[in-house]
Amino acid sequence: MDKRKKTNSVQVGSIKIGSEHPIVIQSMTSTPTSDVNRTVEQIIRLNEAGSEVIRMTVNDSKAAESVISIKNRLIQSNCNVPLVGDFHFNGHILLTEYQETASILDKYRINPGNIGTSNKYDANFESIINIAIANDKPIRIGGNWGSINKSILNDMIIEKESHKSSISYSDLIKKALIKSVIDSANMAQEIGLPANKIILSCKTSDIASLVDIYRELSKTDYPLHLGLTEAGMGKDGMIASTSALSILLYEGIGDTIRVSLTPESDEDRVNEVFVCKEILSSLNLRKFKPRVVSCPGCGRTSSDYFIKLSRNINQLVENKMSEWKNIYPGVESMTIAVMGCIVNGPGESKHADIGISLPGDNEDPHAPVFIDGKKFKTLSGPDIEGEFINILQGYIETKYRNT
Ligand code: SF4
Repeated sequence: MDKRKKTNSVQVGSIKIGSEHPIVIQSMTSTPTSDVNRTVEQIIRLNEAGSEVIRMTVNDSKAAESVISIKNRLIQSNCNVPLVGDFHFNGHILLTEYQETASILDKYRINPGNIGTSNKYDANFESIINIAIANDKPIRIGGNWGSINKSILNDMIIEKESHKSSISYSDLIKKALIKSVIDSANMAQEIGLPANKIILSCKTSDIASLVDIYRELSKTDYPLHLGLTEAGMGKDGMIASTSALSILLYEGIGDTIRVSLTPESDEDRVNEVFVCKEILSSLNLRKFKPRVVSCPGCGRTSSDYFIKLSRNINQLVENKMSEWKNIYPGVESMTIAVMGCIVNGPGESKHADIGISLPGDNEDPHAPVFIDGKKFKTLSGPDIEGEFINILQGYIETKYRNT
């Protein structure tokens, strides 16, 4: 259940973030932005996988120029995903010099720690905000503890030492991160950027710190972008990100998410989108495809038949979903149970929209099928899988057909 408080609503291209809008999945390209072909291919792959807002680094003149070709190529490919430019150190220069890029991008992401040192910060920041105002663009003010705003941190350290405060350095860093993004948001509003053009993020690679920081940020009215930064590679990164994001999302904190995984190849990049979808659907915050509930199996299952059936039903859902979502609205909220024996099989199958309980070791070789909580039929014989798939497809046709 979505417990979010109603934040401001921020328009990013065709997508709305915050308030009552669904939690948005974001990703970031891993290709050099100046490599237009690879970047376009990756953006299309990420978008097809389910990324709804895609960020790319704009780190130099070539990258800033390439944004124009990337956008044109995406339009030709009918890909209208909102594009975000990620700016560090020279964002004020690039956005000033490449005005077409500034007008094409749907949002700018800036990091208060990487805008310039004390005397330059205000001027650089003001110039970026003025460009955002002139182009009617939203900004994400994204702090990161790998690039914390040093002047804010130094001031806090001096104050701690002069007052002999007992605050720990890790708490000091959290406070500095929060202060740097909130001060920057206030400053942006003072310059003239409306509050509904601002999104905040404050990423750390430590889960406990991330949770503390976001609980504090959630007291503001700005939509929040969540992510555990530098989460790592493969399963480690997925588990760390899932643990962190789940705590916050369950508390109703977070309007847009990204899972940052170190990729081993360009193709791997879509994994971060799949993990975002799994997190949101596991928490019942969004649904993307029917859920297949299956038991882990144990010594009561004498064959791997139910494992194969679970795998094949999952595969069927993956293969059919792009077709189903157009003709069967609502099918993504369906639950299918595939269970291994009588212990939990009938009970779990009754909880699902449709479920099958396969026979375990020493049980009669029959497989009862349940629909909407009631026993529908008992299957037996050599083609239980084929018969179950037919029943499943008939159920979907009857219940979700868009007439
Ligand atoms: S439902 Fe049966 S087969 Fe599956 S884990 Fe439970 S006891 Fe084992």
